[in-house]
Amino acid sequence: MKLTRVCAFTTVIVLTVSLSGAVTPSASASSANSHRLVAKQSKKVDSKAIYERIVQKLPADWQARRDAARARLGIEQSPVATVVKTKLSKAVAAAGSRSTAAIDPSQYECGPTKLDGYVDQLLEPVDAFNLFLIQLLGGLDVPTYDAILNGTPKGAGFQLLPEYKTPLTSTFGTAQRFWDVRLNNVQLMAMHGSMLSDVNRVTSVVQFMYGVGPADAADIAKDLITMIQSDPALHNGDNAIFTLNAFAFSGEGDPDPVIRKLKDKMVFGDGILAALKAIGLNKVGPKAVLGHEMSHHVQYEDNLFDSPLTGAEATRRTELMADAFGTYFATHKKGLGMKPVQILQVEESFYDVGDCSFDSPGHHGTPNQRRAASSWGAATVAFSNNPNKVMPSLRLAKKFDNVLPELVKPDAPTSINAYRNLIAQP
Ligand SMILES: [Zn+2]
Repeated sequence: MKLTRVCAFTTVIVLTVSLSGAVTPSASASSANSHRLVAKQSKKVDSKAIYERIVQKLPADWQARRDAARARLGIEQSPVATVVKTKLSKAVAAAGSRSTAAIDPSQYECGPTKLDGYVDQLLEPVDAFNLFLIQLLGGLDVPTYDAILNGTPKGAGFQLLPEYKTPLTSTFGTAQRFWDVRLNNVQLMAMHGSMLSDVNRVTSVVQFMYGVGPADAADIAKDLITMIQSDPALHNGDNAIFTLNAFAFSGEGDPDPVIRKLKDKMVFGDGILAALKAIGLNKVGPKAVLGHEMSHHVQYEDNLFDSPLTGAEATRRTELMADAFGTYFATHKKGLGMKPVQILQVEESFYDVGDCSFDSPGHHGTPNQRRAASSWGAATVAFSNNPNKVMPSLRLAKKFDNVLPELVKPDAPTSINAYRNLIAQP
């Protein structure tokens, strides 16, 4: 039996917010950094009153339902919070909860990347109190649910933006043919934050999340939309914060019939594409992300999610493997056949989305670890004895699992050449 999963490109972190306006990571109820994101309270709409009205319409166990809906689709965390990951990881560190850390943070170089700067810039004008009430209600998950539950490659609301349609569709086809597993059932589509202005679509998601009737769901959807529209900085949902991710979804083999009948998908949020463009990776970055996400579909088909690792370390393993496989695909002449200068940009794409949320079950690897995994993937092509042959995916996975302890060492090298000797091993 296969577990349904959503494999996202970036680390995502669940936030909780207290009604006093303090923002804290769920792992730490109080934190010195908790007031860093402050309510701006400059709007005409009373977010707190709307929030309370929504909660009154929800069943008493609404928070458990919200979390159960995430689990049902395999969404481990809410896809907001690359947005605040640096701030949060500092807050988590301040709270001193390190018990489940995949690594000892003090030994590692880990700090803000260009993506953090982009996220800061996105967040700066936003009313954080309003945004986190929206998050608490599951509002930041809405475009993700909508794509998983209702998205189709031909659907009007799920078309890739014109700028990306041709390059991503072409890269997607190449990736489907590259690997030795069945990938032609995976559907490629976009998710747009603008769906957050569509009462019907938001209503449908609210019904799924909370199991409420259609009338209550419609009222809640309207209130949620009002909260989003109350802050001009959220651009009626078209702010990248709502779609700052790409993910691979598979419900195959799920015991839940509703989930099992959903198609395998690869979904690109407008936000992650905008982020890659803003940090200078517009040409190569989206292809790198696609290579990473298709690698998750290879993992689904090959059952590569099981390992002796658990928690943050288990997530880190499958994420770094996807970085390595994605770079292998980008480098290989039967894949994208990228030139060295482009491969460096692939590595940069993974580096920039690395995170320092060592404790989070969504930890994807530090920037350096993600770069190291990517370099190892490129080296596996560069130093192959038979560069025309694509390695069977299970064999590549075995090689990856062998090298993983090297890749996550504090001083792991991040250049392609550094992995020459390791590649030579059988
Ligand atoms: Zn991933």
